[in-house]
Amino acid sequence: MKMLTQIKEIIEPLNSSDGAGVKLKRSIGTQLIDYFDPFLMLDEFGSENKDDYIGGFPPHPHRGIETVTYMLSGAFEHEDSTGAKGVMKSGDVQWMKTGRGIIHSEMPAMTDGKLHGFQLWINMPAKLKKNKPEYVYLNSEELGYFSDENRRVRIIAGEFNGIKGPIENHNVEPIYFDVELDENAELSTILNENHNSLIYLIDGHLNIGDTSMSPDGKSYLLILDKSDELKIKAKRDSKFLLISGKPINEQIARGGPFVMNTKEEIAEAIHDYHNGTFAKY
Ligand code: MN
Repeated sequence: MKMLTQIKEIIEPLNSSDGAGVKLKRSIGTQLIDYFDPFLMLDEFGSENKDDYIGGFPPHPHRGIETVTYMLSGAFEHEDSTGAKGVMKSGDVQWMKTGRGIIHSEMPAMTDGKLHGFQLWINMPAKLKKNKPEYVYLNSEELGYFSDENRRVRIIAGEFNGIKGPIENHNVEPIYFDVELDENAELSTILNENHNSLIYLIDGHLNIGDTSMSPDGKSYLLILDKSDELKIKAKRDSKFLLISGKPINEQIARGGPFVMNTKEEIAEAIHDYHNGTFAKY
């Protein structure tokens, strides 16, 4: 039976900083919500003040996770130990499966103007954590795109109204939509009732299930309950991300940029990084 999806929890992102002093808002991966399986971290970075982002993220390692970076505006230059290199522009996505290990840098390719984007960390199951890194770069034109008179949906992963995103055959069966609704527009979609789903409300005013939610100039993380029919109505022009994924249901051990199953594996990652065997495949 179809059950209407409700908001289970409303979380205000915490001000944080990472890399070389990049200011950001973290909504998953904090003391309020450490892990929303399979999502380990969700950061929004955005500022018109270059001092908030100019330091960027100088070379650093990752192991055991996927990092999904989505740029709304601005440009980031990236370079990594697989030899991949390029500049991310507005609307582009970098979906990186770090597997066994990658060392990369993410630096702003701009000295003024507005930078705005997101980074989502997705856990990898034990059986994939030791894989070779895999790097997917998607230009904005490669995303799925649905539009009609009052709705625009960019589809990174999942399917909306018959239009599929480019990320397919993924173990967590992700949904990642960037949605813009004009005032009074409605959106409905089916979620998997066994998956964990969230809305990251950036701007506007939405009715979701029985709740009305307006961010008042701030962004909010809305944790959804596990039901299958999501119905949203915009009370004014609104913008949000809809993200969903299948839980991995494994024990996790965190060590900064490494996320493994046990503390021993974190110690091994630190050891490999310090003795130079980290990004060798
Ligand atoms: Mn990184």
